[in-house]
Amino acid sequence: MEIIEKVKDMQAYSQDLRVEGKVITFVPTMGYLHEGHLSLMREGRKRGDVLVVSVFVNPTQFGPGEDFQKYPRDFERDNKLMESVGVDVVFYPSAEEVYPEDYQTYVTVEEVTKNLCGISRPHHFRGVATVCAKLFNCVLPHIAIFGRKDYQQLKVIEKMVKDMNMDVGIIGMPIVREPDGLAMSSRNEYLDKKERKAALCLYSAILAVREQFENGERRVGALMDRAVGIIMDEELATIDYVKLAHPEAISDLVGVVWDRALLALAVRIGKTRLIDNTVLGEEFEKC
Ligand code: AMP
Repeated sequence: MEIIEKVKDMQAYSQDLRVEGKVITFVPTMGYLHEGHLSLMREGRKRGDVLVVSVFVNPTQFGPGEDFQKYPRDFERDNKLMESVGVDVVFYPSAEEVYPEDYQTYVTVEEVTKNLCGISRPHHFRGVATVCAKLFNCVLPHIAIFGRKDYQQLKVIEKMVKDMNMDVGIIGMPIVREPDGLAMSSRNEYLDKKERKAALCLYSAILAVREQFENGERRVGALMDRAVGIIMDEELATIDYVKLAHPEAISDLVGVVWDRALLALAVRIGKTRLIDNTVLGEEFEKC
């Protein structure tokens, strides 16, 4: 497994692979890897000849007062995990390498960033779109793989790629959960024992709303109330948002659900902000 730290070296490496006719697959991450990340890498391994993973905690997607400084990092451990799933190249640039002095270009995706996390984290998706555009220009992948855990992020990237005519195929992969249902996340590391238990309210809300939907409930208000009720019953939880949104446009749904609906949750457990989601009307991979 090769570790590349410089943009120019990464580009030269990928250019050579492309000349050889190799299919490059790419998984962008912020490191502190878990099974969710590894599932994307296994998919990448299957879909191409050379699998590149980036490990980069992107400063521009964190707002002031967010957890950029304390975001968990363990590159040695990550390397072992990446080796175990057959990663070929780790792109591991420094913040200065990605954003040199006098950096001033950002990518803004207009509509799908307006709702959900775009409200509570105003510059978040600008940072995400910018870093993904830059990483695509470094790694030159044919296919990039993202998790549906960050559902809105996946839609932002899909839209950016389409609108900017980027020649990259985007694949969205299912949410990987702990055995008890908590969606895997590097931020679960922040939870103490009591909080870890309380965090299950997100999954409980998802299961309950899915059950209601399967039993024929289609009123947006009733479905949302069920999720809100379950989360509010949890003492350590504070709701950032609980919403039913259009699964492509990410706009609020009102009235009744006609077809599919994204149930998106962002909840603070103590100081830790967790997100989870499900698409009602689509099959569910229960853990
Ligand atoms: P992150 O390191 O949190 O930026 O995540 C890197 C990629 O892994 C993103 O595409 C995430 O959506 C994906 N990911 C994170 N957690 C999970 C999970 N539990 N299941 C599936 N994909 C995930």
